[in-house]
Amino acid sequence: MKHSRFTKAHEARPSGRAPDRQVYYAALFVGVMSLLMLILEILDHVVADRYYLSVFSWAEMVVEILIIGAIARAGPLALNEMASRRRATEFAHKARIQVEALFEMTDILQSALGYADANSVVRATAAKLMPGLGGALYVFNNSGDRLELSSSWGRPDDGPPLGRISPSQCWAIKRGKPHLNLAVTEALRCEHHDQSSVALEIPMMARGEVYGLLSIHSGDPDAEQRLSAATPVAEALADAMSLALANIALREKLRTQALRDPLTGLYNRRYMEDVLERYSNLAERNQSPLSVVMIDLDHFKTLNDDLGHAEGDAVLCEVSATIAGAIRPCDVACRYGGEELVVLLPDCGTIEALAKAEILRARIERLSENHDARITASFGVATIPDTSPRGIDALADADAALYRAKTEGRNRVAVAGRPEAQPVVDRKSAAKAA
Ligand code: GH3
Ligand code: MG
Ligand code: MG
Repeated sequence: MKHSRFTKAHEARPSGRAPDRQVYYAALFVGVMSLLMLILEILDHVVADRYYLSVFSWAEMVVEILIIGAIARAGPLALNEMASRRRATEFAHKARIQVEALFEMTDILQSALGYADANSVVRATAAKLMPGLGGALYVFNNSGDRLELSSSWGRPDDGPPLGRISPSQCWAIKRGKPHLNLAVTEALRCEHHDQSSVALEIPMMARGEVYGLLSIHSGDPDAEQRLSAATPVAEALADAMSLALANIALREKLRTQALRDPLTGLYNRRYMEDVLERYSNLAERNQSPLSVVMIDLDHFKTLNDDLGHAEGDAVLCEVSATIAGAIRPCDVACRYGGEELVVLLPDCGTIEALAKAEILRARIERLSENHDARITASFGVATIPDTSPRGIDALADADAALYRAKTEGRNRVAVAGRPEAQPVVDRKSAAKAA
């Protein structure tokens, strides 16, 4: 957390140094005059000459007048000085509470597991640091082209905040600096703001990247002054929050990378193996079938050689998207490795799995129309309990069936088990469904 912006708020002392010095000189002057008075008093008692006694008496009167004058001059200044010192102490106390709240927030944010946690923390801290001001937190979506409302608080009765903002509508994001939207028509205002309220927008940046936007607003008549005064605190809040958002984004990215294949977006092999074990236990417990479909693109090496690796990658992505678009939400499609893919179909018997594989085969073949190459795939299907007893066996059996589909001419679906025991796939109805 950067504190430089925040410390500015309490560096400024409400009073200057000049009155302080004047009070000091006045006190010194009164002290010297009092000493002079004492000397004159002593001389009064020591000297007998009448002439000198009268001079001393006049001198005492002048000194008394000077002392009264000095007190009259310095008294109000001293009172002012005391008042401004009290204000400075209060100011420092308030600043200390704010710094403590920010440190506490940063500390709690370290344990925030996701955006929901971060939202709760920012709401609570904003209410404490900027009471009476409304606010909203926007975070960039995954593709980074839109800011989406993540949380809002203390909104005055002017309706809910916008659900999303385009970065091109916001001056704070475009300039990379805080921007105060005034409630005057001729002022430079962000497009996403209505005219009625004054709003302070702060881009949330960490590690050179913008992660979101903090918007603080007020509909009060003195909104401009209140928001100007709250700017250092709001900026410190945005600083602390942006680092937390960066950490959450990084954690999310690592988590997704641990589950997904970066090229195709399908689940990775490790994740599929975990799910296979879980689904196979569930299938056994519920006495329901579980099918495993193993897919391998045909002659993909030749396709790479003919069209280039980049085109090969694009085909792999299209095939993956085709599969992902043709399965149920409970099914799991993964990239098993290279140009091999696996689909898990829970609660799906052999006949249905074969029909589904045939649909996928036909759709993949149809992708050839978009490329200067023939795109086909071979399929191996195994089902618990029909062809295989457990998940791990189903995977090996589907692989063996796939190998058979390859040897029998590719671009086809084969089922695990002895060929003569295979159920017949109704190709016509499967093709119709595709
Ligand atoms: P078969 O029909 O017998 O499966 O033939 P094949 O050429 O598909 O099989 P082979 O195992 O000989 O080659 C697989 C090829 O898949 C070789 C490799 O370059 C390619 N491949 C694997 N992963 C990727 C990838 O991520 N991108 C691209 N473009 N190609 C890949
Ligand atoms: Mg292969
Ligand atoms: Mg292949």
